Amino acid sequence: MNQYDSNRILDLTKKLDYILTNKISEANCYILNTCHIREKATEKVYHDIGRVKKEFKDKKKPIVLIAGCVAQAEGDILLKKESFIDAVIGPQSYHQINNLISNLEKKRKKNNYTEFDVIEKFDILNYTKNNNSSVSSFLTIQEGCDKFCKFCVVPYTRGAEFSRSIDELVIEAKQLVDNGAKEITLLGQNVNAYCYNEKKLSDLILEISKIKRLKRIRYTTSHPRDFSKDLIQAHKDCEKLMPLIHLPVQSGSNKILKNMNRKHTIEEYFDIIENLKKSKSNIQLSSDFIIGYPGETKDDFDQTIELMKKVKFINSYSFIYSARPGTPAFNLKTIDKVVAKERLIIFQEISKKIKKDYRQSLLSKTTPVLFENKTKDGNKYFGRDEHYNSVIVESNENLTGKIKNTKITEINQNTLFGKINSKLIKEEFAA
Ligand code: SF4
Repeated sequence: MNQYDSNRILDLTKKLDYILTNKISEANCYILNTCHIREKATEKVYHDIGRVKKEFKDKKKPIVLIAGCVAQAEGDILLKKESFIDAVIGPQSYHQINNLISNLEKKRKKNNYTEFDVIEKFDILNYTKNNNSSVSSFLTIQEGCDKFCKFCVVPYTRGAEFSRSIDELVIEAKQLVDNGAKEITLLGQNVNAYCYNEKKLSDLILEISKIKRLKRIRYTTSHPRDFSKDLIQAHKDCEKLMPLIHLPVQSGSNKILKNMNRKHTIEEYFDIIENLKKSKSNIQLSSDFIIGYPGETKDDFDQTIELMKKVKFINSYSFIYSARPGTPAFNLKTIDKVVAKERLIIFQEISKKIKKDYRQSLLSKTTPVLFENKTKDGNKYFGRDEHYNSVIVESNENLTGKIKNTKITEINQNTLFGKINSKLIKEEFAA
């Protein structure tokens, strides 16, 4: 979502004649868009600002803004501690960024823009064309969260659940497709909690899938609690909807899920997966795991391993629990760090083996790949298969924006390598 927000900030600031530069030393305005989800987020901000300071040691300093969730959660502290920072602007206030920059151009006075005005934000953004021209683009459809998992900062940094209207989303999706997008990933902190005038995520997917030149639709991140039957049905009905679902579970133990306030059980989680697989047999899953949550016993951990082995997630993102300031879990007694570390290693070894076996099974198979760009390495093109695996092929033909059936010939830990299967070409590209 930060990537989407950063692109939209760029669209907005273009109105003040700012353009993007990759050279920090050339910047008149430096905006650091931050994430607060993991540990040490604030330290990373100070570290980054330290680098910028060095660049401008003997030069006039640029306007320096901290955007995103660190600004939202710790803006006052940042402004107080680091004089190089001119202003902080939260994720629900960035539609005001041009006012902020214009004010700072006139007068450098510390500013804190961190109100939660998500309705006004999207009202203003709707009047600013989305200029993102990536083959695979993001579209924020929903923001915020009402779930209040005990470990998570999102409800405090992004605010309550808010969904944008279907009409405005279809307009923005068409803009992205006109710019060259062939795939759109619908984004939300709880994307499947999307609800606008009783229309759900499944309705939105079916509406957006009518855009002819759009070939693929994805959505992330889902919450098991909101995984309704109509969404499962959409996977059956909508060919453009890709068969990889990121469905964070965090733990395999009902006791820990309850302690986390996740609002679902493992049995309900398994039911969703079973129904999804019934609706489309090639559905695969990825998930997030917190290892060593306060109160996690060996038995709880074993249940997480059992879950991992049963579902065989093709990608798992696992971290040792880290207490985030301001969350209800912050003051809970943590488990022994050494034990947590040992458990993480065990978990990651198992998930690595599952991933390896899955990737080996792709060898010699032919799969449709949407190519996103040419790499820096000669005539090689980078794309993704339906399950979001990275694929690289060599080609003299410009493949950007095209879907080609590709035979997988080689595999390493992160990338699949293949050859375009000329006998089986399924050219889906429409100019
Ligand atoms: S559902 Fe997701 S975003 Fe909401 S509180 Fe829980 S972990 Fe955070």
